[in-house]
Amino acid sequence: MVYVISREGQPLMPTTRHGKVKHLLREGKVKVIKRCPFTIQLTYESTTHTQPITLGVDAGSKTVGLSATTETEELYASETKLRTDIVELLATKRQYRRSKRSRKTRYRKPRFSNRVRSKNKGWFAPSVEHKVNSHLKLVADVYKILPITELVVEVASFDIQKIKNPNISGAEYQQGEKLDAWNVREYVLWRDGHTCQHCKGKSKDKILQTHHLESRKVGGDAPNNLVTLCKTCHDAYHAGKIQLNLKRGASFRDAAFMGIMRWAFYNKLKEVYPNVSMTYGYITKHVRINNDLEKTHAVDARCISGHPLAEPLGVIYNQKFVRCNNRSLHKANPKKGVRKSNQAPRYVQGYQLFDKVKFEDKECFVFGRRSSGYFDIRLLDGTSVHKSVGYKKLRLLEQRSSLLTERRQA
Ligand SMILES: [Zn+2]
Repeated sequence: MVYVISREGQPLMPTTRHGKVKHLLREGKVKVIKRCPFTIQLTYESTTHTQPITLGVDAGSKTVGLSATTETEELYASETKLRTDIVELLATKRQYRRSKRSRKTRYRKPRFSNRVRSKNKGWFAPSVEHKVNSHLKLVADVYKILPITELVVEVASFDIQKIKNPNISGAEYQQGEKLDAWNVREYVLWRDGHTCQHCKGKSKDKILQTHHLESRKVGGDAPNNLVTLCKTCHDAYHAGKIQLNLKRGASFRDAAFMGIMRWAFYNKLKEVYPNVSMTYGYITKHVRINNDLEKTHAVDARCISGHPLAEPLGVIYNQKFVRCNNRSLHKANPKKGVRKSNQAPRYVQGYQLFDKVKFEDKECFVFGRRSSGYFDIRLLDGTSVHKSVGYKKLRLLEQRSSLLTERRQA
């Protein structure tokens, strides 16, 4: 799939006609503006015929799935790993600062004010803010290369309003009884901490089910008649082998704190994109299982986009957010009283950390560099390609950025 942008910068429908693209490139009628995903811009005037495209977003705190689909085919699919090192890094920084206070040190001018929290109400912890901003950037990046007409986001795994008030009305609540049961099920699993309430996880059985304390006829499908059991305990109970030692399911646990990040993301999206709507995890799960699809973030995103059976793209863009800088001036632990400088050279033979390089026809990333000119190169998931390869065998493909992208066969 080649993504196409008009002369004026508007995204157009992508093309799979590689021959034509090659021809246009040779004639100089288009220019390449991005290598991965491969995007070209026309230099001549064109018509702007587009079809409706929905972008589904499987928001998550570790991995984000995106999928842009028309009714018949998938046009873009990606899975992105977010940074998980922020909490740890800030804790380390705090420790350094504290130990510095009890030390006699030379005076250093303050470098910048990092003591001011934004006066707006929407302050988030740095790790949460990274997550929200990353989601926004990923969506914006797709809007740059595809003429998206609709945006759908999964905001939570279940709909607490619907459970609290089953008779709620409104267009978004018009769904069957079967789906309602899926909603309650997701809620009960969450309330019980995704743990079997009989063996408390001792059976190591990963398959969890919801058990009706009183029969469905008598007790109904309300959450307080349901409890989470692993398949092992559930089967044993119904075979009459064990007695359950349970209290009736707890009453509503406050779900307010759940999914702060996803709600913040959704609210910020609403400010920028008028055509955004939301969906819930239990609906995604229902659609995915009904259509017999495998469970990945990209597939979930395709289900969220509303076209689960769109022809898969066959290619997935793997992405990863990485830190930009390490500004520590010194290594943490002085050896023999000498505080070693942390300022490793940024460039070694023209390469820096996380540059995308080509090695023997393979595209990979610089994960480690030595001043001797040898590099540790890997794929984005960490698979080693070469532990110590000389710089002469590498060719620079892309300079690093805070978001690394790699193309993979799905
Ligand atoms: Zn159990």
